[in-house]
Amino acid sequence: MSDSDKTIAAITQSIKEVGLKAGAKVVGIAAADAFNSYVPQGHRPEDFLPGAKSVIVAGGDGPTAGAWHAPDHDVIENIGYDLRENVAVHVMADLIEQKYGYYAIQAPAREVSGHTPPMSMMLAAVLAGLGTRSLAANIILHPEYGMLYYAALITTLPLQPDHILEKDVCPAPSCVTMWERFGTTPCLSACPSSQGGCLDGKIAGGKIVENFYDRERCHARAQTYGAGSFQKVLLEIVNEEDPERRKTLIYSDFFTRSVEALAYYKESIAQCFECIRVCPVGMKQRAKM
Ligand code: SF4
Ligand code: SF4
Repeated sequence: MSDSDKTIAAITQSIKEVGLKAGAKVVGIAAADAFNSYVPQGHRPEDFLPGAKSVIVAGGDGPTAGAWHAPDHDVIENIGYDLRENVAVHVMADLIEQKYGYYAIQAPAREVSGHTPPMSMMLAAVLAGLGTRSLAANIILHPEYGMLYYAALITTLPLQPDHILEKDVCPAPSCVTMWERFGTTPCLSACPSSQGGCLDGKIAGGKIVENFYDRERCHARAQTYGAGSFQKVLLEIVNEEDPERRKTLIYSDFFTRSVEALAYYKESIAQCFECIRVCPVGMKQRAKM
């Protein structure tokens, strides 16, 4: 390894440690140009930061073990767990600019139209070697922690990239066995599209060979409160001619929670984790005791 490679490896390691200390559960790195083979122009790191060399991806914990065991399933979302990976990204971006003198920005991940984000955090996590897509709503599963929330930063700093995992995390060995015996898996049986659910798929030779996820149906069920529900009720309110009924709609529990979801950006992520609740990957982390 040349001296320059050793320096890059040392900087890479120290940035990862800072990210982990700032609250990320895992940190991985993708080469910025690794996105080029998967997404068109307009969705690549270079489109958001000219001269981009690296993408640092932070995975944050999902709900605590206690939250997974709450008898009221809505509780998981109401307490919210989608911030720690963003904090880690901000801390690492500051470090890169202040200590190393390179540019760094948080990768834009919130959709601006439809469901397509400017940059895919799912792809970033896969390219950074943090996990692979699953049969459960395409959620990226980390081999040890299962579902995590992801954020990323783009930087002009050259770093040592990680690589896509060699072995797919999904299906887990026990899911392959279940598939061979019963023709289903825990996640598919939690939400089967044949019975009004959102998921379907096929496994052959221990690998996913078909994968179906009805995102619109899942969205309507899992994201009960958010921009969609706000718009839906708002339309009803503006078209309502009866002032008493209009008032009832405005002060209704449903509309109030929709407004709160927008204001706090909390309840709008998901209210259903059933496909992940039954997934064996990361089960130990969700159980703890
Ligand atoms: S989040 Fe809920 S509704 Fe969506 S796919 Fe999973 S189990 Fe089905
Ligand atoms: S339960 Fe988890 S590991 Fe098993 S098939 Fe579904 S997503 Fe994959």
